Amino acid sequence: MSLRPIIAICGTTGVGKSKLAIDLAQHINRRCSNSYWRGAKIINADAMQVYKGLDIITNKVPEAEQKGVPHHLMGFKEPGEQYVVGEWVNDTMKLIDEMHGNCEIPIVVGGTSYWVQHLLFPDRLIPNEVANRPSSPLFREDDDEPSWSVELAESIFALPQELLTIFQHLPEEPPSAKVDPDAAFQLHKLLGFLDPVVSQRWHWKDTRKVLRNLQIIQDTKRRPSDIIHEQSSTTSHVKPRYRTLSFWLFAESSALIPRLDVRVDDMLSQGLLDEVRWMKDLATRKAITDNKMLGINTDYTLGIFQSIGYREFCSYLDAPNEETYQEAVERMKISTRQYAKRQVSWIRNKLIPAVEAANADDVVTPFYLLDASSLGDLWDLNVHKPAANILESVYKICASYIHQQFIQITDFLDGKTLPDPRSLSQIAEEKLKVKKKDVDPLAVLQARKRRICAICTVEDARPIMIEEGPEWEIHQRTKSHRRLASKRLREETQSEHKPRDVETRL
Ligand SMILES: [Zn+2]
Repeated sequence: MSLRPIIAICGTTGVGKSKLAIDLAQHINRRCSNSYWRGAKIINADAMQVYKGLDIITNKVPEAEQKGVPHHLMGFKEPGEQYVVGEWVNDTMKLIDEMHGNCEIPIVVGGTSYWVQHLLFPDRLIPNEVANRPSSPLFREDDDEPSWSVELAESIFALPQELLTIFQHLPEEPPSAKVDPDAAFQLHKLLGFLDPVVSQRWHWKDTRKVLRNLQIIQDTKRRPSDIIHEQSSTTSHVKPRYRTLSFWLFAESSALIPRLDVRVDDMLSQGLLDEVRWMKDLATRKAITDNKMLGINTDYTLGIFQSIGYREFCSYLDAPNEETYQEAVERMKISTRQYAKRQVSWIRNKLIPAVEAANADDVVTPFYLLDASSLGDLWDLNVHKPAANILESVYKICASYIHQQFIQITDFLDGKTLPDPRSLSQIAEEKLKVKKKDVDPLAVLQARKRRICAICTVEDARPIMIEEGPEWEIHQRTKSHRRLASKRLREETQSEHKPRDVETRL
C-alpha cells in the first residue's frame, strides 16, 4: 500500500521553521490552479505553542505573519492543562486525514522533534515513555524524574537484604577485583538479579562495566538490556506512517547564538515579563483554590510552566532589582542555547537514524538539511529556493500518488527524481552523516555471553567465567581445564561407587 504524503519541518528554536512552513504553504497555494492539490495547511508540533495566549513566551508566529495560512493545534489548551505526545499524535493524524480528504497537503512544523518522530514512525511509541513523560516538552526531559519499569521494580523488591543495601549505596568508583574480590562479586550478583541479560555479558572482574550498568539502572530506572533492545529495534524495524518530505533547518552555532540572544531581548521588549507575571499569578491563585477545594498541593510546573523564561524570571519577580533582572536575562539566554543544543542532538541521534532505517529499502522519508545560518538574501538562496525546488520534484510525485489507480508510481521516490540530500551543501554533507551501527547491539550483547566453567570454579564466590563461542572452545581444550575435568570425573566415579560399597556391605 502506498503511503500518503506530508511535509515535516524540524530544527532548533529561532532558526526560521515557521517562516519556511508559511513560504512552502504559499508556494503550494499559488500552484493550486493547475494541480490536484488545493492548498496546504500547517500543523503545529511545538509542545509550548499548543497553549492559549502567552504568544511571546511560546514564540508563536504573529497572525499578520501567518499570511492567511491556517495553523492547527496551536493555542487551544488552557495553561493548566496537560497534553501528552500520544494525544498530539492522534489529533494530528485526524487532521492529516481530513486534509488529505480535502486535497490539502499537511505541513507539520515545530521544535518538539520527539512528537514529530512519534508521528512519522508509529512503532517507536513506547507506552511507558508516553505514560511517564507527560506534557513536559521533550527537551526538558533531563529535569524529569522517570519512574521505575514494572519488571525492574519487581526485581528490586525481591532483592536479598544485603544486595538491596549495596544497590542503595553504590560505590562511586568500581572496586578492584584483585584487592576486594568479594565486593566485586557482590556487585555482579546484584546486576544478575536486576538485569540477567546484561550481567551475562560481563565477568565479575569487569567491575567498571558492572558498576556502570548498575548506575544506568539507577539513573534511568530501566534495565540496560531493555534500553539496548529498544535501540536495536529503532535501527532495524522502522515502518513509516507517511511518505514524508522532511526539512531540517540548520544554523551553525556561531550564527545561531547571536540570533537567539537578540530574540530573548526582543521577547523582553515585547512584554515577556507581563506574561510571566500573569502565569505566576495564575499558578499561585490556582494552587490556592485547589488547596481549598481538594486539600492537596497542585504542582504548576508542567506544560506551559516549563517554557524557557518562566522559571528564570519567576525568581526575579520574587526579588525585583537590576541585579536579579540581569541574572534572569543571562540565565534565559543560557537555557535557550542549551535547549537548541539538545534539539540538534535529538535530530542527529534519534531522528536521523530512524529516518535512515525507514529509508533502507525505499526512500520514503527524504530528509533534507537546509542551511539557515544566514538571513536576508542568503536565506532565499539557501533555504527558500532549494526547498521550493525539492518540493517541485515531490509535487509531481504527490499528484501522481493521488491518481495512483491510473499511474504506476512504485519508484517515485527512487532518487532519480529527487536530489541526493547530501549533495545540497557542504553542511548537509557533514551533518547528515550519522555513524552507522554495523551490527545490531542486542545481537552483540547476546553473542558475547559469559558462562561459568563449573569444572574450573573452586569457590562459588570467585567463579571462572569465559565468553561463549571460540573462547569457550579454546578453554575446553586447555591443559588446566582438562586436568581438572578428569580429576572431577575420577572423584565423581569414586563417590558413585561408594554408596554401592556400603550397600553390598549391608
Ligand atoms: Zn574450565
